[in-house]
Amino acid sequence: TKKVLEVKDLKIDFAQEKGSVTVVNGISFDIYPGETLGLVGESGCGKSVTSLSIMGLLDTTPGKVYGGEITYKGENLVIKNDEFMSKIRGNEISMIFQEPMTSLNPVMTIGEQLDEVLYIHTNLNKKQIKDKSIEMLEKVKIPRPDEVYKSYPHELSGGMRQRVMIAIALACEPKLLIADEPTTALDVTIQAQILELMGNLKEETETSILFITHDLGVVAQMCDRVMVMYAGELVEQGDVVTIFKTPKHPYTKGLLKSIPKLGESRGLLPSIKGQVPAPGTIETGCKFAPRCEEAMDICKKTSPELLLFGRKHSCRCHLYEVTEEVV
Ligand code: SF4
Ligand code: MG
Repeated sequence: TKKVLEVKDLKIDFAQEKGSVTVVNGISFDIYPGETLGLVGESGCGKSVTSLSIMGLLDTTPGKVYGGEITYKGENLVIKNDEFMSKIRGNEISMIFQEPMTSLNPVMTIGEQLDEVLYIHTNLNKKQIKDKSIEMLEKVKIPRPDEVYKSYPHELSGGMRQRVMIAIALACEPKLLIADEPTTALDVTIQAQILELMGNLKEETETSILFITHDLGVVAQMCDRVMVMYAGELVEQGDVVTIFKTPKHPYTKGLLKSIPKLGESRGLLPSIKGQVPAPGTIETGCKFAPRCEEAMDICKKTSPELLLFGRKHSCRCHLYEVTEEVV
């Protein structure tokens, strides 16, 4: 199968007063046509910088890609200039964020903002652009699209604003949509509605989705495959059924225990003790060792290698080096 995007040994560091620290330490993954790939991990693990690097937006933060490649249509996006990237952004690769208010322009109407991306990236005329914008608002199930077209962002609820963001992101029929915690800022009912909408759109379009979340429950609902990221590394990767039924990495197992069962309150969940280490603080061994209940002597000394279990399941943990046959 042809890949939509290929990320190879991507390394990102952050400039700090005392020098730079690595925040993404050599991750590799592929995204295939039409699939939804989850990227899951706690905040601070490197998920968002990974997505910003794909969009060529790292320049606006202290982060910098210092190794690896991001290949899209045969081009390495890492070395492309902003002029090249601005033709791709919002057109072939688009993104929705956690807080739509910060990505919508408060002084432009919804219609103007939808029209603008179609004006930049298509050859449609004024009338066609307006029709397409209204059609997109209908597609994301916004009631009274003609009125919303003339509204300003502050006149809409958070859920409606996120629908607008999805409409803008999908207007040019991108090959890849990056969704970074798109429902995290919304209350539970609205979150469910947005996920349902995205699930339906996923069936209707051929757009591949990179779905970034800290919530494996969301992954179960939305994704075909999932990558688990911890402290700048991918620690486990596989199809969703495999990861949920037979997780291997202790971190993945911990995240799975934190998914609320029906009727359980979120407040009482067992979560993984401790926190994601600050970048650069753990130099040797497995970065999860300080929090791992199964840690062994070797874990603090040597970094585990990525092991393959079958064709599609991989995990980075010393527990399996001796006991499992490596394929
Ligand atoms: Fe735990 Fe060791 Fe596996 Fe790291 S390598 S997850 S510390 S058992
Ligand atoms: Mg984030």
